[in-house]
Amino acid sequence: MSKVTLKGLNSFGIAASCSDFVRFSSETEIQAWLTKNKNNSEQLFIIGGGSNLLLIGHVPFVLLQADVQGVEYIEQGNEVLVTAGAGVNWHQLVMETLDKGYYGLENLSLIPGNVGAAPIQNIGAYGVELKDLFVELEAIELATGDKITFTHQECDFAYRYSIFKGQYKGQYIITSVTLRLSKTPDLKLDYGLIRQELEHLSEDQITPKNVSDAVIKIRSGKLPDPNELGNAGSFFKNPIVDEVIYTRLKAQFPNLVAFELPDGRFKLAAGWMIDQAGLKGYRLGDAGVHKKQALVLVNYGDATGKDILQLARYVSQKVKQKFGVIIEPEVWILGEESW
Ligand SMILES: Cc1cc2nc3c(=O)[nH]c(=O)nc-3n(C[C@H](O)[C@H](O)[C@H](O)COP(=O)(O)OP(=O)(O)OC[C@H]3O[C@@H](n4cnc5c(N)ncnc54)[C@H](O)[C@@H]3O)c2cc1C
Repeated sequence: MSKVTLKGLNSFGIAASCSDFVRFSSETEIQAWLTKNKNNSEQLFIIGGGSNLLLIGHVPFVLLQADVQGVEYIEQGNEVLVTAGAGVNWHQLVMETLDKGYYGLENLSLIPGNVGAAPIQNIGAYGVELKDLFVELEAIELATGDKITFTHQECDFAYRYSIFKGQYKGQYIITSVTLRLSKTPDLKLDYGLIRQELEHLSEDQITPKNVSDAVIKIRSGKLPDPNELGNAGSFFKNPIVDEVIYTRLKAQFPNLVAFELPDGRFKLAAGWMIDQAGLKGYRLGDAGVHKKQALVLVNYGDATGKDILQLARYVSQKVKQKFGVIIEPEVWILGEESW
């Protein structure tokens, strides 16, 4: 089988290859392909917009992409059910819903990638997660070609997690996602710098569009645009620790940045820890820790997947040495090496 080049299909802009790449525009195309290839022993991997992947060398998989387009809206009183195809660009969906006066997604503006990937890690930003709006999704089981609906409960969402990263990892290709939005704004302003960005407006003047604009401005100011500097957003997850570890760390590092979770544990800001380990702006050849946001690793041009992985391991090791805490990748590492 010939090799397919993937440089343009991952936001790190890394040169990599895979065994084959198949793009589908409908569920029936996916089902037909699965039937035809059911005796094929090649391993399959689903790719969306490639913005949460680190590809290393040759990826010995057939990559499948559900490029299902289209968005449907069903109004139910003050609420609206929005069903979007897996191939719809996430940010465009956010913009379209805001334009129509359907609210809830404003804090999730400018997250790269496609709708089909959004449930996988329960995308989140500025105090809102996909699970807050999620109703159900449709997916096709790779082993059987069966179409299955997953409810909110069945997805088992948690911080940067769903059942598709656990028990059902790699088993389903998501074709559409349904969200419940509202015609009445319920603004979430207390996370990050949103309030500060909107301080020129009084609270009753603020609209969801203002919030979206603020989020876009804040994100653009601190996160590198993958079109200009290859990256996959936050490379590491924020580690979650129990109260005993949190208290010990807080005594040792009084400026520790942490958020208490409803279950009494604490989410530590990995970016702050990387910064404190002296690594913000650190560079290993063309692989670097971003100058403004230490949680983001970047490709300055010709970094290979291995270069980024080597840097990530170094960063993780330095954080462990300083804080005794292990930070783990949020991105999917695929190819000749693993974490
Ligand atoms: C600059 C930047 C900023 C970012 N900011 C955020 C942020 O604020 N919050 C956040 O949560 N994430 C963020 N991310 C990460 C990324 O945007 C999300 O993880 C996004 O959902 C990935 O979408 P994608 O389509 O590119 O998926 P890919 O990277 O292609 O795939 C990601 C995972 O989803 C699986 N997948 C993709 N499509 C499907 C499908 N149809 N069916 C089944 N599985 C599928 C893949 O197998 C893989 O496991 C950021 C990334 C970048 C580059």
